[in-house]
Amino acid sequence: MKIGVLALQGDFHEHITMLSRIGVETAEVRLPEHLDGLDGLVIPGGESTTIGKLATDFDLLEPLRKFAAEKAIWGTCAGAIFLSKDVHRQQPLLHLMDIVVERNAFGRQIASFEIDLEIPVLKEVAPGGGPYHAVFIRAPLIASISGGAHALASLEDGRIVAAQQGRMLATAFHPELTGDDRFHRYFLHLAAGQS
Ligand code: GLN
Repeated sequence: MKIGVLALQGDFHEHITMLSRIGVETAEVRLPEHLDGLDGLVIPGGESTTIGKLATDFDLLEPLRKFAAEKAIWGTCAGAIFLSKDVHRQQPLLHLMDIVVERNAFGRQIASFEIDLEIPVLKEVAPGGGPYHAVFIRAPLIASISGGAHALASLEDGRIVAAQQGRMLATAFHPELTGDDRFHRYFLHLAAGQS
């Protein structure tokens, strides 16, 4: 199993550290040819406009879409924005997931916060696991879901913060910034084609 992390901008190092810790071979992806031989790709948090612009400059948009048609792909925060089909703003997107995302949805006051979430699907990789401690940093919300996507986690008021569509995952929060590797292991489970 070899997982790539899009390394154009943002906190790709943290994903690499987490994946290495759970024993997975990793590769930094900056060019289309770096996608060869990977079983899955993580798109990190950062600034989605910058990631989109650099991906356009490096001719990565079409190769990433092709990759997602065959392999697992997961966007955290800015990465989730980049995977979405619409953000109601002009910026390069992959348009891969049937989710509409609202950027910086939590405003200034609570631009960053941490909260425990119930994420039932994590039981597939950790049957006895409790709530998931999620870190939000100038986070987006998944404002609506359609087509093949479904919600994996919501805040208490029902607003969606994680979604899945086939082997694609979007999380508004940052599992790579916690010590909890359950989300990374769930992604590996998708990349291995077990779900
Ligand atoms: N606010 C950023 C954006 O809109 C995302 C923040 C993050 O990735 N932590 O792209």
